[in-house]
Parts: sequence; C-alpha cells; structure tokens
Amino acid sequence: MANDTRPVIGIPARSVVDSSNGFRYSGSPLTYSNAIERAGGAPILIPLHLSEETLSAIYSRIDALLLAGGVDVHPKEFGEEIEAFCGEIDTARDETELRVTRWALADGHPILGICRGIQMLNVAAGGSLYQDIPAQIKTTQNHSYRSGDPYNLRAHPVEIDPASRVAKWLGTPEIEVNSLHHQSVKKVAPGLRVIARSPDGVIEAVESEDDRFLIGVQWHPELMDDDERFGKLFEAFVASAREYRARRKP
Ligand code: MN
Repeated sequence: MANDTRPVIGIPARSVVDSSNGFRYSGSPLTYSNAIERAGGAPILIPLHLSEETLSAIYSRIDALLLAGGVDVHPKEFGEEIEAFCGEIDTARDETELRVTRWALADGHPILGICRGIQMLNVAAGGSLYQDIPAQIKTTQNHSYRSGDPYNLRAHPVEIDPASRVAKWLGTPEIEVNSLHHQSVKKVAPGLRVIARSPDGVIEAVESEDDRFLIGVQWHPELMDDDERFGKLFEAFVASAREYRARRKP
C-alpha cells in the first residue's frame, strides 16, 4: 500500500547508550515524531554514524528537516574554546546535523529547530551561542527547568514580533512558554533575524529574513500540546514541507 500524501520530515537522532548492555543506539524522543504525525507529516529518523554518501541518500528523500532538542553543540563549531560551564556534547550528532542542516540551507528545504535545534540552525548558518546563560548573561530568570518540574511548565513569557510568521500562527505576540535550556543564540547567523525574546533579553525565536521556512524556537512546543496554538507551528511546518515537495517534483 503506497501512501504518498504525507511529506517526509527527517529528524536526526541523538546518541543513546543502553546502560544494561552497553549497546549504542540512534534514538529520538517520541514527542517530536508524534507532533509531526499529528500535523500531517511522516517523520523519519536519521541515524548517526553514517557515511556522507549514505546520509546524502537519506537526505535526498526528505522534504524538510526537524532539528530536535538535546545536549550542547560543541563550541568549536562556532569558533570558541569549550568552557567548563558548557554541558554534555554529542559529537556524532553534531557531525550529522551540521551536514544535513547545511545541505538543507543550501537547497531551500524547510527547517524547524527546537531548543538545541534553534542553536544548531544558528551555528550551521554561521552564528554563535552562549555556552551557559547563568555564567554569561546577567539575568535572574531561570531558563533551565528540568528535574522534578513538568516539561510543560510555563517558565516565562516571550514577546514576539507581531509581524513574524510565528506570531501569526500562534495568534498572539505574547505567550507563556516552557524553558528547558541553559544555552541561547549569541551572534545571529546571516539570513536569520530575532523575532522573540524573554523579558531578560534572551533570544527565544528566529526566522529567516526572506519567506523561506527557517524557524527556530528556544521553547518546546511539542511538550505544550495542552495548548493547541503550539500545534499550529508544526502544521505550518508540515504545510511548508508539502509545498516544497510539490515545487521540486513537478
Ligand atoms: Mn527560555
């Protein structure tokens, strides 16, 4: 049974080790693939540790790229020494994501970046990151809610440029969001612009300067499915992937 109605959304995996037997996996939280499926897309996991040739064969079959949350991008990727306050690193994931993200940027594939994903998008496009908000930014706002708190906990408001696509999809220029990050965008990459900040000035979302679908959010919309407005972001992303596929396959 062939079903070609859903655009295929590639999601690069993360490194996972099974502590019971030491087996190494490429994994991805179900929250991302579930959100893509709910929005009408077909999520496909992109494994790590593949050759460039194999990765390119997978890449050629996807219509859009979702960059998910996770550990820190190695600061060498934006020209900095790693500081003591930088967090855990997954170099196999960095390598895979940088490759496919740069291909997608060059080809015009839609890209949605979430949490680590906005950071990866910004680094792949030539920007940089704060390696640790508490160490490098003056703020009293806790951006790093994790252990013990519900993942949909609304940590702080974000003010969104009313002219941005994200504000249009959410239907509001101000909304309370969750916050599960200790890094954030520092130097914004060429081609991207800041469209949302928290009250302390931390960058919470970016969009492409043109009308390509390059969107990054520092919050986790997939973990706030108690509010259907956050689902609109995934619907717009999948719609963009569908249009992109129609354009390149006449
Ligand atoms: Mn935040």
